[in-house]
Amino acid sequence: MVKVHSTFTIQCSSCPNSVTSGQDAKFVDFIKSLELQGWAFKTNSYPIKFDEIKNVACPACEKVRKDALCKSGSIYDKLEGGYYEPSGDKAKHEEFKKDAIEAIGLKGNKRAERAYQFAWEHGHAEGYANVLYWLREVAEIVKYKEGV
Ligand SMILES: [Zn+2]
Repeated sequence: MVKVHSTFTIQCSSCPNSVTSGQDAKFVDFIKSLELQGWAFKTNSYPIKFDEIKNVACPACEKVRKDALCKSGSIYDKLEGGYYEPSGDKAKHEEFKKDAIEAIGLKGNKRAERAYQFAWEHGHAEGYANVLYWLREVAEIVKYKEGV
């Protein structure tokens, strides 16, 4: 059996922060452990491949990016920034609901509450972004009926 010594060094795309794996690490496991520590990777490959990483953010740079997204007025930016997390937080859920209804154009619509319930039932198991997807899907019907 041939023992191959290999290490991987990952460097942040925006600052000098870097981290090197232990010897003989599996690349995928190394990346997973970094993700658990807050590192973020942009790539089109799954599972992730060394040569196909487009952008790396260390935990500090990723926090700066997410904080900026959370301050945005866009519900889509806020979702990406983790603004509504943790998902069990009741106050954050109420804020998401209000923002979602407004973003989809159902604010003031008397069927908004029922439409949101429907979207929640169909989407919440896969997260807020999926609830928003379902709300957008059902909104056209709700808006149409409203105008009749
Ligand atoms: Zn960085």
